[in-house]
Amino acid sequence: MRAHILVLLPLAGCAFASFYGNSPAYTVPLDESQVQEAVEAAVSIRDAPNNVDYRCGPKIGKCPIDTCCSSAGFCGTSKAHCRSPDCKIDYGHCDAHKSPYGPPTTDIMRPHIGQVPYGPKEIRSCSIPGTVALTFDDGPTRYTGDLLDLLDRYGAKATFFITGINNGKGQIDDFSLPWASLIERMQSSGHQIASHTWSHEDLSKITPSQRREQLEKNEAALRNIIGSFPTYMRPPYSSCSPDTDCGNEMGKLGYHIVLYDIDTDDYKNDSPDLIQRSKDIFDHQVYAGDPHIKSWLVIAHDAHEQTVHNLTEHMLKTMKRLGYRGITVGDCLRDPRPLWYRKDTRMPTHKQKPKKTASADPNKPISFDGSCGSNYTCMGSSFGYCCGSTHSCGNTTTHCGTGCQKDAGYCAVEAPSNGDAWDPTVHTKGKKSEADSNSRTIGTAAAISLFLALIVAMWM
Ligand SMILES: [Zn+2]
Repeated sequence: MRAHILVLLPLAGCAFASFYGNSPAYTVPLDESQVQEAVEAAVSIRDAPNNVDYRCGPKIGKCPIDTCCSSAGFCGTSKAHCRSPDCKIDYGHCDAHKSPYGPPTTDIMRPHIGQVPYGPKEIRSCSIPGTVALTFDDGPTRYTGDLLDLLDRYGAKATFFITGINNGKGQIDDFSLPWASLIERMQSSGHQIASHTWSHEDLSKITPSQRREQLEKNEAALRNIIGSFPTYMRPPYSSCSPDTDCGNEMGKLGYHIVLYDIDTDDYKNDSPDLIQRSKDIFDHQVYAGDPHIKSWLVIAHDAHEQTVHNLTEHMLKTMKRLGYRGITVGDCLRDPRPLWYRKDTRMPTHKQKPKKTASADPNKPISFDGSCGSNYTCMGSSFGYCCGSTHSCGNTTTHCGTGCQKDAGYCAVEAPSNGDAWDPTVHTKGKKSEADSNSRTIGTAAAISLFLALIVAMWM
């Protein structure tokens, strides 16, 4: 297709009008890609003079292409703009729009087998007396390794409602991040893995196709890690309104919808001063019941520091004192383990896929015995991704927190402002030396100069 620059003038609006003024109409032939480029440039000039000033959202409109619409209604491309679930998915690009690799799970059969009801029925309690099903939503996060250690110490099993790409943590099936290995550890430790959707959108506020996408993307991501995907899910914000048919849709997708009968309110009490409130909520309910006839289904969040480092051990101690066992949701509903997941038989060799074995220093070999430091990095090792002050690899706060060696693995000391998820790029950025950034700036400047020189040459 050929076009002429006159076509662009109405599209470009004021931005070009003053430039061209009332010039006589003459035309310069452009090919299709040049037209597209010019249109995009014109639109970006017209609509987004800069990302801070350009607004987006209901009754305002969408952001320019590839730009995210933040929760406050501003367009931009920073992590804060694009982070789901805050980012407005209908008004720009968001983390939610990213996809796991591999084939979609759409065509996999989803028969309703077993005795546990599927959606739209909501499951709010367990059925084996003397058991507590602790459930943790929104992870994995930088605290999840510590939580797994704690559960191991108490011999308790739990259920993790996993979110695929929330709070700017990156996607769970990105093997250069720690999340996939934490999910594998959950699986191998006998915990249950369930779905909490791809990007934690409110399912009652999105369309049926968006709801399906929220579940199917998380399925593909979990399939990429453990070879199968869950039959249990919990809607974010416990929101799956009957008005929207959400519950029926979850049933058609083959999901058991799991809610709870004890809400610890831990996300409201994430400080050493407040967490006692969550402990009191738990104790008040559990002490009131007789473990010979009673069981409990508890909601908490491993995205919160006080939940992992304070509340959970309190709950485990109370359970032990009263004679309750900590088991998974599937077990407390007497559902046989093979029914907790659906296998994607098209990808039987998920373990053999090319995993990124990213290293903090690509020149440093990956630790083969769990030791780390000047000679070996933990990134990509099977012992954990952080190198602690004692020169050993691991995923606990001892390894990833204070004293963590940045040159020999990931470190989680620089928390993002929302405190929900550790941001690995902060570390990567911090690792750049002054010399690195200077040379990069010089390189960019040189490239721009070359580009301008080429344009001048073409013009002449
Ligand atoms: Zn949640």
